[in-house]
Formats: sequence, structure tokens, C-alpha cells
Amino acid sequence: MNFNYIVDQFADIQVLRYQVPGFDALSLRQKQLLYHLSEAALMGRDILYDQNCRYNLIIRKTLEAIYRNYSGDKGAVDFKAFEVYLKRVWFANGIHHHYAEDKFVPGFSEEFFEREVRALPSGALLLSEGETVDTFIARLKPVIFDSDVLPKRTVQSGERDWILESANNYYGEGVTKAEVEAFYGKMKAEDASATPVSFGLNSRLEKVNGELKENVWKVGGLYSPAIERIVSELEKAVAFAENEKQAEIIETLIRYYRSGDLKTFDAYSILWVEDTASQVDFVNGFIETYGDALGLKASWEATVNFRNEEATRRTQTISGNAQWFEDHSPVDKCFKKAKVKGVSAKVITVAMLGGDCYPSTPIGINLPNADWIRRDYGSKSVTIENIMEAYDKASQGNGFSEEFVWSETERTLLRRYGFLTDILHTDLHECLGHGSGQLLPGTDPDALKAYASTLEEARADLFGLYYLADPKMQELGLVPDGEAYKAEYYRYMMNGLMTQLVRIELGKDVEEAHMRNRQLIARWAFEQGKAEQVVELRRRDGKRYVVINDYEKLRTLFGRLLAEVQRIKSEGDYEAGRDLVERYGVKIDLDLHKEVADRYARLHLSPYKGFVNPVMREVKNDRGEVTDVTLDYTEGYAEQMLRYSREYSFL
Ligand code: ZN
Repeated sequence: MNFNYIVDQFADIQVLRYQVPGFDALSLRQKQLLYHLSEAALMGRDILYDQNCRYNLIIRKTLEAIYRNYSGDKGAVDFKAFEVYLKRVWFANGIHHHYAEDKFVPGFSEEFFEREVRALPSGALLLSEGETVDTFIARLKPVIFDSDVLPKRTVQSGERDWILESANNYYGEGVTKAEVEAFYGKMKAEDASATPVSFGLNSRLEKVNGELKENVWKVGGLYSPAIERIVSELEKAVAFAENEKQAEIIETLIRYYRSGDLKTFDAYSILWVEDTASQVDFVNGFIETYGDALGLKASWEATVNFRNEEATRRTQTISGNAQWFEDHSPVDKCFKKAKVKGVSAKVITVAMLGGDCYPSTPIGINLPNADWIRRDYGSKSVTIENIMEAYDKASQGNGFSEEFVWSETERTLLRRYGFLTDILHTDLHECLGHGSGQLLPGTDPDALKAYASTLEEARADLFGLYYLADPKMQELGLVPDGEAYKAEYYRYMMNGLMTQLVRIELGKDVEEAHMRNRQLIARWAFEQGKAEQVVELRRRDGKRYVVINDYEKLRTLFGRLLAEVQRIKSEGDYEAGRDLVERYGVKIDLDLHKEVADRYARLHLSPYKGFVNPVMREVKNDRGEVTDVTLDYTEGYAEQMLRYSREYSFL
């Protein structure tokens, strides 16, 4: 079958489509469960827009109204640029780049915007109380066009006040970093529990009459209209649960959405992590805290998926040997877990993406995030193979490796082992990396502050890199020979030293945690191995290429860095962590950056990718009973976004 993986392309984005193999073979009951969980995954879309910036919803709705109402020349320069801007806003769930977090620069004129707003039918305008068209335009124009207004979604480096300077909406106006730290510092200090809740996770911290108050995201609280819809779909899903435990999980999540009580969220997380029997699974809630400069507030996200039984045997092999991997890692003994608990690992097929997982989505998930739940109950770790496959298929034959890979030797390695070792690296990262190691008693889990995410990703990546080259991998039948790991080593070093730079604007620093982590590892290994020329940036015809001269020594370097990063985390050594990240993970050699950007531009590729979802539909007979659930892969990008705004917009 010829499946069309590429859907749309604009700015620095390529939109792909993923397949859901195995869906048809599921039972009707499972499909109905997936259907209602999928509806719940889409119901919260507006929440993320509002979390990312308080102007996002009104801007998206206004832009969509203009898009629908526009009757002029669709080939006009202004309209074309407007369309690109709207597509970018959809992709980023707001007016800031989803990865770089800088505000978009619109390519259309202020005059165009003003004229089209005035041309809207009065019902399409979202005027606040007492507002006129003039004041409405005056309010939105600077937010869209003035680069000094709300320039960055999340500020988390430098001397400025991270909370005041961030454009995101996790804190009310006027709330400062010192106030947030004091507010939650006091809460933490007063809680002597060994099982603390994730303070601040599900609320906006606001100043009311000079006093700080949490405005909780729950039924009856902030975002209630959207959360009520989520709850209503979850209630329908309960009826189709695969077993009693799964019904209890969904019901507990519903109780949490109703109460906003973080203890209930922990109860839900424990039930969820313990459920390894069900084939259908999901994530739905306020989960990841990357978007908050202080790592407290979580963005809303959702995925719906089912286990890929065959591929899961691979990860079960890995997790079944978790203790062996923990015992043999190069980490100091006192930072290791004596008993690695419940590392459950599976390969999944996603059927729906929502919130912060859409359109840009991770290829692996490891949850829950609370340290003590991971310690006492383990974590659930997944690799999303149908997404990885879509990436791989969409990139074949695009000229990238001809341009950046040193020679046919490395290209052959990548062709032969690239997809397998990439998947295995993700498996190791998720199944073992995040779950490995332990904090020393008394170490504050938040000690690494803004550097925590980067160092945590580095720890997991290094664990994977180190073990990919271990003879144990062959012994377990996971790789065919002792050469395979070289494909991932080459890809990783090339990406971390050079090619990931295409995602960053010239002159800017590396900001995003995963990217900082990759550069940190690659740069550190490059510098440490310099004397022995373990890795080189070699020139040919004026272009630089990564050449790895000694793969085994590179592995030793990865092991050394893994030991150090684990020590930093275990001891909560903020100074050393900051030093490592700032020294290797943040700054870019401008000359190299220019060269890479130039070579990349000539390939006409997009550095960022994301996905449209399939359309999931219930099939009913004439008595109104559901007889099947089907997937349709024909919906376009703009079409899907406009439909979601029509059918799933509640804020
Ligand atoms: Zn990770």
C-alpha cells in the first residue's frame, strides 16, 4: 500500500501523517474505549493554548475568523504570509515557536490585519466587555506585531526575573520568581512526608489583593468548561474498560479532575503505573513541567494508544534485565539502586495525540514524574514505534545523509542499522535510563532547578549510549553484531555537534532541554577526546564533517560522563550541573552554525516535524448501536485544525 506520509510544509515545519497498524484487529470494545479516550484527548486542546500565553486563544480565534471570512485574492502576498502565520500558531499551540519559544514574526502587514478584522461580521469578533473594534485592534496589534511585547514563552536562563519575563500563563501578572520560590518553598518545608505531592502542578499562581493564591485547574475551577468535557468522555470510556483495574484508573482520574486534589493525582498515577495488563492505555492530564521556568506547573497533554505485542517482546527483554544493567553501569555504587523496581516497558501504537503532544510529539514516554512514586512503584516506559516509523519513512531519500555524513562507510552503517539502533536507544533511554540511579538521602529533588530537565535527559541518553555498545546487547539478541551500535554513535555525534543546529536561529543559544542535552554530551565527548582524536570535525571541500576514529574510546567517554551526571543528580550538585550545561550545552560556534544552516537550506528540508491525527469515527446501525470504529487518513492539516477549533473549543 502506498501511504502518503507527508501532509503539509510551511516555515520550518513539515507535517506528517502516522499510520495505526493493528487497529482493525482490536475488539469492538477496545475500539470503543479508544474512541472515548480519543475524544477526551481532544477536548482539552484550548487549555494548552491558554497555558502557553493568555492571548493565544483570542488570537487563534480571530485569525481563524479572518481565514474563513477572507474574500480577497488568495494568491496575494499578505494573505499567503497570513496563512503561514496561522499554520505556525496552530502548530505551536500559540504565538511562540513550539521549540525555540520565541514569538513568531508575522510576514503580513498590520494594515492587512486591521482591514480584515474590520471586515469581520460583528458576531465573529471576540470583544471584551466595553470594547470597541478600535480598542480590540489596539489591544491585539502589539501582541502580534511588536517584537518587544511578550518576546519569549519561557525564560529560564540569565539574570532577569524568569517568571516576570516569561510570556506563558502559569503565573498571574506581577508574580515574581522570588515570590514563587518562597510560596512553594514554604509548602515543601512544612510537608515532612516522604511522599510529597507535586506542589503547584495543576494551578496558576495569582496575586489577589496582594496575596498569592492558587487558581486550580479543575471542574468548577480554572478551565472548567474544557475539563468538564474531558470528564464526560472519560465517564463514557469507563464502560468499555478492559478490566476492573483500568475502570478504577479512569474513575480515579475523573475524581482528580473534579477535586483538583494532588493526592488523588498521586493515587491515580500509582494505579496507572501498576496496570501492565491492559492493552489499551492513555495519558491525559497536567503532566510535563518543561514549560515552566521553575519546573512546577504542568502543561495539559494527552495520548491514546495500544500495545504493539510483537515489538513489546524486545523491550521486555531489556526491562527483564534491568537489574543487570543497573549493577554493571559505570556509576558510583552509592548512587545506584540496590533494587530496580517495576521497570515496565512496552512498545505502543498511538491512535490519537492531544494537547502538548500534538502536533509535535515525543517518540517515547516515561511516567509518572514524581520521584517517590518512581522509587516505590517504578515507572511505565514506552516507545512509540508508529511515530518513529513515520519519521523514518518520510525522511528516506531526502539528500540529508549525502550532505552531512562523512563517507559511504558511515552511510552503510546507518542504512543497515540506523532504524534499529535508534529505536533501541529510545528503548534504553526510556526503559532503563530515566529509572536508573537514586538520590542520596536528604537531597532535594528540585535542587538542579532550571538545569534539571537537561541533566535528566542527558542521564537517560548516556545510559542508552553506553549500553548500546555492550556485548550484553548481542547476547540478548537485540542487535545482530558488534558493529550495529556505531550507527547510533555516529548519528548522535553528528546531530549533537552539527545538524541539530538547523533548528536554531543564527546568533541564538541552545534553549530546549533535549537539545541542550544532546549538545552537552556530544561537545563534552568531543572536547575530552580531543588529545587522542577520538572524534574529529574534519574538513573536505570547505565543509566540516564528523568523523569518529575510535568508537570504543567514545564509549568509555560516554560512561565517564554518565557517572558524573548521575553524581550531580544524586547529590543535587547545582553548581556542577550548571557548569556542565552552560559550558557545553548552551553556546554555539557561530561559524559552524552558519555553515550547517547554509548546507541545510540548500536541501529545502524542514527541521521540525509534527503530525495530523487520523479521523476516528463510530459506525452505527439503524438502531443507533455502535458496530465499529474506523480510521480515516485523508484529512489535511488546515482542515483538521479548523475542525478541532469548531468541535473541541470550550474556552
Ligand atoms: Zn527522556
